[in-house]
Amino acid sequence: SAKAHAMTDLVARRRALLGPNVSTFYDDPVHIVRGEGVWMWDAGGRKYLDCYNNVPHVGHCNPRVVEAICKQAATLNTHTRYLHEGILDYVERLTATCEDPLETAILTCTGSEANDIALRMAEAMTGKRGIVATDATYHGNTTLVSHLSKSNVPEVGFGLGQYLRHVEAPDSYRIADPDGQRFAAKVQEAIDDLERSGIGFAALIVCPLFLNEGFPTQAEGWLRPAAEAVRRAGGLLICDEVQSGFGRSGSHFWAHQRQGVTPDVVTMGKPMGNGHPVAGLVTTAEIMARFRKSFRYFNTFGGNPVSCAAAMAVLDELQERNLQANAARIGQLAQQRLVELAGRHPVIGDVRQSGMVFGAEFVLDRQERTPAAAYADLVVNKMRQRGIILSKLGRHKNTLKIRPPMPFGAEHLDLLMTTLDEVLTETPVIA
Ligand code: PMP
Repeated sequence: SAKAHAMTDLVARRRALLGPNVSTFYDDPVHIVRGEGVWMWDAGGRKYLDCYNNVPHVGHCNPRVVEAICKQAATLNTHTRYLHEGILDYVERLTATCEDPLETAILTCTGSEANDIALRMAEAMTGKRGIVATDATYHGNTTLVSHLSKSNVPEVGFGLGQYLRHVEAPDSYRIADPDGQRFAAKVQEAIDDLERSGIGFAALIVCPLFLNEGFPTQAEGWLRPAAEAVRRAGGLLICDEVQSGFGRSGSHFWAHQRQGVTPDVVTMGKPMGNGHPVAGLVTTAEIMARFRKSFRYFNTFGGNPVSCAAAMAVLDELQERNLQANAARIGQLAQQRLVELAGRHPVIGDVRQSGMVFGAEFVLDRQERTPAAAYADLVVNKMRQRGIILSKLGRHKNTLKIRPPMPFGAEHLDLLMTTLDEVLTETPVIA
């Protein structure tokens, strides 16, 4: 058909113009041309329920954010070397969401840049370079940061691998570690190894909810023992809240607060400008001063007036519409619905939820807990055929990950769960 031909054409052009190995979702990629709230439309006019996109945090094309961007773009946008209230007003609002002594910020354009700066802050503070990260995560794409992704270690990269140690990511379904002591012991081993090797320990970087690694179930305060090990060794704790921040966890504005720790640096991005590329980090005055002395850091676009207007509108929208409370409420409902589904579908081995991030782990059998990764793929693609956008990930690539925009409501959840029930019912389990 003409539509199929147009799609093939786009896929071919993408490959020709952008090169091979550029990621797309699905066997049959979606061509999205419009969004509104929790909905997206493809080029053929078909409507999709967006249950995965954490960039349009306060909803696709949120009118308040769109208006803020347009108004500021029509007034002034330029680089960041002039005085402007926009960045100051925003950083005041942003740091007010963090606990003391997190009171200064750097704004960037991507989460990768923010993590890159955080790692350099750790070097500036400790005089050492050893970084500890979990073994199935992703923190971004700069030369240094890309090495943190053990599952996708770059073939080239200035030999930076020597500075990294990976620890086993938590997995509440398979590895018993109710209070985080086991994880802390692994972190300690990695710290000791770095110190023995002469490289020395600079920082532990983690997503507080381990969202790229299957968002394990964790008791409040779970990260505290690991944070204590980091402090004892004189290193920095960097919490990458690119995914977990801005109220998504439901219980707290920042997920590290739920984990019972105050990081030295909090990095953030994706949802921050609702799609406008603004990211950044928050840290203490002491760390900021040391970093500013050690590195002559400048970012042409980071914190420009339009970015700050977009980011401010996101905070306004979160607050005025009580979206963090919505995340908590929907997360609870989602948990109940998934547990119900697990009662009827033995393929669901475990149900997990952290506010507006929830999902289920698919297994071939509940005794052995054998990951059903191919089945997870099949379900994700079948959901897409039925107009529901979600994904799967995790240490075993078998965990359904559902992470909708924050205004996702009970009626949307109902459509999602009803459709998931149908798909699970009609899809025999495959290995
Ligand atoms: N940290 C985490 C936890 C992420 O999920 C991502 C993006 N997937 C990044 C950092 C990198 O952010 P960006 O793509 O904006 O550089």
